[in-house]
Amino acid sequence: VRLDNRRGFVEGAYASSDARGVVKADHLSLPTALGSWSPPEAEPERRPSLARESLAALVVGIDRLRDVADALGPQAAEAVLATTAARLEARRPPGTMLAQLFGDAFALLAPQLGRVAALDLARELYEVASQPIAIADHELSVSVSVGVAFEAAGGIAAQGALRDAAAAQHRAQQRGGGRVELFEPETGESALESLRLEGELRRALASPDGGLTLFFQPVVALDTGIVTAVEALVRWIHPSLGLLLPQRFLPLAERTGLIAPLERWVIGEACRRLASLPEPQRVLVNLSTNALNDTRLVSDIAEHLRAHDLRPDQLAVELSESTLLPAHSAARVTELRSLGVAVLLDDVGSGYAWLTRSERLAVDGLKLSSSIVAKLAVPEVMGLARLIVDAAAKLAIPVTAEGVETAAQLELVRSLGISSAQGLHFLAPVPAATLADVLALSGAVSAARAAVPAVLAAHTPAAGEERAVSLGQAAKLLGISASTLRRWAEDGRVSSVRTSGGHRRFYLSDLSRLNQTSEARLRRPSLPDGPVPGLAALLAADGLEIATAAARSLYDERPGWFARAAALDPLRAFTTELAQAFEHGRYERLGDALRRLMLAATVGSATLAERHLFLERFAAALDSRLIKASRPAREQTAARRTLSALSLTQLADCDAPASAPRVPARRRRAGRLRDGHRETAPS
Ligand code: C2E
Ligand code: CA
Ligand code: CA
Repeated sequence: VRLDNRRGFVEGAYASSDARGVVKADHLSLPTALGSWSPPEAEPERRPSLARESLAALVVGIDRLRDVADALGPQAAEAVLATTAARLEARRPPGTMLAQLFGDAFALLAPQLGRVAALDLARELYEVASQPIAIADHELSVSVSVGVAFEAAGGIAAQGALRDAAAAQHRAQQRGGGRVELFEPETGESALESLRLEGELRRALASPDGGLTLFFQPVVALDTGIVTAVEALVRWIHPSLGLLLPQRFLPLAERTGLIAPLERWVIGEACRRLASLPEPQRVLVNLSTNALNDTRLVSDIAEHLRAHDLRPDQLAVELSESTLLPAHSAARVTELRSLGVAVLLDDVGSGYAWLTRSERLAVDGLKLSSSIVAKLAVPEVMGLARLIVDAAAKLAIPVTAEGVETAAQLELVRSLGISSAQGLHFLAPVPAATLADVLALSGAVSAARAAVPAVLAAHTPAAGEERAVSLGQAAKLLGISASTLRRWAEDGRVSSVRTSGGHRRFYLSDLSRLNQTSEARLRRPSLPDGPVPGLAALLAADGLEIATAAARSLYDERPGWFARAAALDPLRAFTTELAQAFEHGRYERLGDALRRLMLAATVGSATLAERHLFLERFAAALDSRLIKASRPAREQTAARRTLSALSLTQLADCDAPASAPRVPARRRRAGRLRDGHRETAPS
């Protein structure tokens, strides 16, 4: 491995390689290397102090270098590597270390680099490394994948971050390359884990109650607000890992050939669930690339439809363009359509192939990719969306927008003339078991949400313009009381500005963050050192009751998720875990317990504001009960500190605007507890 020889990184090194001479990321460790490192005179202040600082690792990999070697010979691949190395070195910030990691990847280790700066750097490296490379008389356009990961503060070993960054880079490549990915813990799966997971998936598929399950997300007609179809999305309730999303096991299923039985199961289960609804409309099922190779596909589908007494037009299949466009797919698509099953093109706009191959666009509908919907405020993206919608209109193909998360996005989707939509703004995917209830309720929900809230409509922001609304309007948008919102503003959880008259105004962007139903990042609450018996006893005896009372207090008329039956089990599990943690003074599982509760709330479409408020009310209620229980002062203090930390967890969104005012911790706590009493006092 070559580690920037000129700066003397190499001596005393740390790298080891396998038999083929491939350096393993795990064995690369920074401390030895940087231990012998002395910074160039010019930049003494940049000297990394490793002991306390966090460390960012970036892995830049060249996509399909193998193809370059095959097509143009090994020298060409060498030249690509050398050029990329030189370009990266030219952009390498002082005080960081660059090394070739594998045959086609480079690693950059940067001590003392914060998240934002690291992501900026990743993007910058991505840009320079993606520039075309001139080789002989060829102009080669290379694509690179970048993975980014961090070592927690205090960590001085680079192995963890480097391994994570390499995993993220690998994932970037698996997702088609040409992108930057931040490490997500799941990518760190070892070969052993994936082997185990494969066995478990095999068993899950073989047994009727193996944990595979379908969630359904409604598709809403925008003119009426009526749910016209539901999309089936597969989930796996894993015995020890909990709820797994498709991205966690579908790639594995595709690699191992388990995808075919899985998809067969999905089609059958989707038909069964649809048939059991009081008013079955239509179910949309996703199919993978392999599905169309299966000669039995169409007869299987016909069989399932017959078995459940469904009409063919009650089923539609969603195919991505990479699945649909190859010539061999055409025959199967024709078969499906002549059976009467609709074929929808999924994720339109995330690639461009369909534009150039529109003669093959024999489909019954398009789904505008959530990646487009998320960026509709960007004029270029809006232009592309318009192009897609216009083309679809010419071909008389209806368009559904997917991934609509906010009222502002919905408004842009409407302005394009799109007829239906799905997304968190309406309803998150829900478990099959609650689908009927959700649909019964959803008439009102989706109709209300299909109508753009008057406040937002009145303030369509021009690009780049931040809009602010009054306290009353903001509270209405979030569905919380004005006094709660004022308190949150004082705490600095929501940023606000004052008008010259002293009135608070709230930024719409900040409010929409609070109104989201997606999962928020959790910050770990600071925890007491030992057991807190009083709190443990209180939780064990009355935890669930206190939690459900807090949940009910959140809503006026229509109870949201926390106050519904679906929340009971998750709340019980959460309070039980809490009680045990306080009893034994063992808090390591607390974060997981909280995360599980919040995941359930996310799945049940509870907004971030609801989740915040629940934790706050629950902690305040516990606090006031504890005061009455007259426990020793020290224990009270420990309990209160933990409770107030708990009530802050969901709010401590790491992405909160940096401009939010900082309030000293002590004042914040005192303020909240006082308010908490007021709010939970029986009225
Ligand atoms: P997809 O077909 O594009 O499905 C939409 C994904 O977006 C779903 O993720 C859904 O939960 C999520 N989603 C829904 N509303 C929103 C929103 O407002 N914002 C955002 N950001 N996301 C939203 P999920 O369920 O994790 O599925 C991911 C992908 O996995 C699907 O993407 C689909 O390609 C694949 N998949 C899911 N179920 C199946 C299946 O049964 N068979 C096959 N072959 N693929 C499946
Ligand atoms: Ca889909
Ligand atoms: Ca999609």
